[in-house]
Amino acid sequence: MNRFPARAWQHSFWRLCGAVLLGLLLGGMLGRPLAGLSVALAAALAWHYLQLHRLLRILSSRRSLVPPEGWGVFSELEQILYERQRESRQRKLRLRALLKSFREAAAALPDAVVVVGRQDQRIAWFNSAAETVLGLKPTQDVGTRLNYLIRVPRVLSWLESGGEEPLLDVPSPADPSIRLSFRLIDYTREQRLLIVRDISKLMQLEQVRRDFVANVSHELRTPLTVIHGYLDLLDPEDAPMWADVIGEMRKQSSRMTSIVEDLLTLSRLESLDRLQGEPVDMRAMLATLKRDAEALSQGRHTVSIESLSSHDLTGSPKELQSAFGNLVSNAVRYTQNGGRIHITWSVDDSGAGLLQVADNGPGIAAQHLGRITERFYRVSTSRSRDSGGTGLGLAIVKHALHLHQAELQIESEVGSGSVFRCRFPATRLLEPESD
Ligand code: ADP
Repeated sequence: MNRFPARAWQHSFWRLCGAVLLGLLLGGMLGRPLAGLSVALAAALAWHYLQLHRLLRILSSRRSLVPPEGWGVFSELEQILYERQRESRQRKLRLRALLKSFREAAAALPDAVVVVGRQDQRIAWFNSAAETVLGLKPTQDVGTRLNYLIRVPRVLSWLESGGEEPLLDVPSPADPSIRLSFRLIDYTREQRLLIVRDISKLMQLEQVRRDFVANVSHELRTPLTVIHGYLDLLDPEDAPMWADVIGEMRKQSSRMTSIVEDLLTLSRLESLDRLQGEPVDMRAMLATLKRDAEALSQGRHTVSIESLSSHDLTGSPKELQSAFGNLVSNAVRYTQNGGRIHITWSVDDSGAGLLQVADNGPGIAAQHLGRITERFYRVSTSRSRDSGGTGLGLAIVKHALHLHQAELQIESEVGSGSVFRCRFPATRLLEPESD
């Protein structure tokens, strides 16, 4: 409302004029008009002070105002104050209702939602799902630090590292049979939102899928071995007209055996949570990789190794050998005859260990780089098949590295070659023994 209270001013003005005239009139009747005027003005001033005092008392008491009666500037002022107070109360009520409905919506979410302090990780609020999923108690846990209540080591180190990436498959502190995913979302400058979801059903489905693939691969293994055995017994020289057919059948049955073996390797890696750490001699590893590459290349490529660090790794020698072997075998299979393959082991400035396989082969176009570690993803299906690939090599590498908290980095340029880099955290490195 924005009305100019002109009438109130007029009313007050005329009232003042009336008081002055009355003072003059009464003073005149007593023969002292100026004294009458002074008394009238003093009375008007006193009345104004009285009104101001009343207004100040109303404002400072913070009580609800009532619509004023009467005319004049002070009544108008009171009226404006009354309307402002009513508006602000209505706004407050609307905001309170909105806040209540937001809280009710958050409370009704099936996912656990916890508001935590960014610095001190103190819990400011949580919904009822957080009580069942995380075992939080509304009466005593608000105000407590989150890391005092959730004592799962994986969650603690995830919270400490800032929780940038979601954390998957964590057993619930309230019931270990419930599997949870954790996500931290930046909320305000002081607070973050922790969203915890029950992913038990998803994990069960994933397990069913894994078991299915593992069982099918396992069931296929025996018939394939039998077929392979019989094909080996057939001598193409006995039936020259079938020589090509026998050759093709042998090739395809070997391919199927490789696919089944790779699927079983993947299933085995997927079923592991962590690998036992054993010292892995990296000099011996490089020598083995060179030997294997040369055996596969049969002199078609130049293979070189370089060890720029005397550190060793802790991990599973078998799985690391299989992962690095896959990278080396890819480099040999995809690089044209006469190409170069260079394998290096080094430690970078941040203390991470790097096993790198570089080739000057055909390279991989940028649009494929994000997907080539997916199962059965191939840049060129025919090239992969011709070179004896199963489409599972890089998926195996990725899983084996993941079990060592390592990651696979790929740099490639079409026509120039590719670099596949396995990056191990400093915690996986073993200091060289001093003599
Ligand atoms: P495959 O068994 O088909 O080799 P991988 O998972 O090992 O399956 O590799 C996926 C795809 O990545 C391959 O089909 C190939 O196109 C590409 N690739 C892998 N390594 C190289 C490399 N060193 N140079 C060029 N392309 C490569």
